[in-house]
Amino acid sequence: MNLPELPREPIREEDKPGYEKQIWSPSWRCFCCQDTGRVHAHLVKLVIPDYDFDCDRIPICQSPGCKFGTKWLHLGTANIDMRLTAPICQELDRISRDDWRNTTKLQFEKYRQRIEASFNQIVQERSLTKRDRTDNDNREVAQRKAEIEAISPKQWAVMRKSYLGGDDE
Ligand SMILES: [Zn+2]
Repeated sequence: MNLPELPREPIREEDKPGYEKQIWSPSWRCFCCQDTGRVHAHLVKLVIPDYDFDCDRIPICQSPGCKFGTKWLHLGTANIDMRLTAPICQELDRISRDDWRNTTKLQFEKYRQRIEASFNQIVQERSLTKRDRTDNDNREVAQRKAEIEAISPKQWAVMRKSYLGGDDE
């Protein structure tokens, strides 16, 4: 039999192709374990610098309000690491949230610049051939302009704030 070729089936929204557009809205609630119950490896390393994801006991998220850690408990104490206590997980959650805020800020800026650049380019191209302008062109320019206006820095800030919480510095 010829084996079929199947598309990826990512578990998380974030892993889907083309996710960039939604990068400012991670689907998880807990930034310590990303709702897996297992503290995210790069956060674990802030506490256990030589942490080995493959060999070490699983560091369980004990962040207050996060219930996902409990699903690992059946593995027993020989396999899980409960040393990352609630205050530690809370701090890791805060650090991760800050990282996300900064990352999305950069993404927003890049995205905005890209749209602005393409808008400027279109305006420039059109002005070179102004007399040949068609209704379609005018519509395109107007649409680009609307896109820019729709994502004013102020609005980015509001969106960031509503998705990530906390104050915008
Ligand atoms: Zn968690």
